[in-house]
Amino acid sequence: MLENRRFVRPRQKLVDQLREKGIQDERVLMAIGKIPRHTLIDSGLHNKAYQDTALPIGMGQTISQPYTVARQTELLEIKKGDKILEIGTGSSYQCMVLCEMGANVYSVERHNELYHRAKKHLQTHGYRAMLKAGDGTLGWSTYAPYDGIVVTAGAPVVPQDLIAQLNIGGKLVIPVGDEKKQVMLRIFRVSETEYQQEELDNFKFVPLIGEKGWK
Ligand code: SAH
Repeated sequence: MLENRRFVRPRQKLVDQLREKGIQDERVLMAIGKIPRHTLIDSGLHNKAYQDTALPIGMGQTISQPYTVARQTELLEIKKGDKILEIGTGSSYQCMVLCEMGANVYSVERHNELYHRAKKHLQTHGYRAMLKAGDGTLGWSTYAPYDGIVVTAGAPVVPQDLIAQLNIGGKLVIPVGDEKKQVMLRIFRVSETEYQQEELDNFKFVPLIGEKGWK
């Protein structure tokens, strides 16, 4: 793994900050403490790589705020070997966190260029995940059902295909709202036909654009 000593201390500080902000799952914190976030962004932004903020990655998109990544991952309650689908690969940061948690990760990104970049980053750092370029509002039916699905862009509504691709006992973590503000929903699939929904805190994501998302 590429390492640069200069980032070790800021990364540890970020972990401490996330713990203070309420992230409790030590496995999530360990993953954040390991992943070289700076390598996923432009070198001009390296001094901000371990601040708890979203940063631009081109194409009008962002690498999510570490707190958001940590919170969404924590909400998935991943067990080793779980099959997890991520919608919005973006920088591949969240994807790496999921890999570090021992999940089998599938991830869909609508921007071709980001898809190719993510593929390269994952390879460089030795992470294995299945990536696809396409519209994630339709999920990824080929590998369904999933134990967990995490959407990393803000949706206007919950796309039905995602619900349908959940395993019984599986959960979908998705921010839903308008373009300015979304509430994090966690939806459990209780049985073939029953679901339970929790409403958590507010966030601000880039829009989920697609057939079952924003136009
Ligand atoms: N998980 C990413 C977050 C990137 S921001 C990370 O850790 O960095 C959200 C991403 O969702 C963007 O890259 C955007 O292009 C992508 N996106 C938006 N709508 C999408 C859709 N319908 N399907 C797949 N990806 C989508």
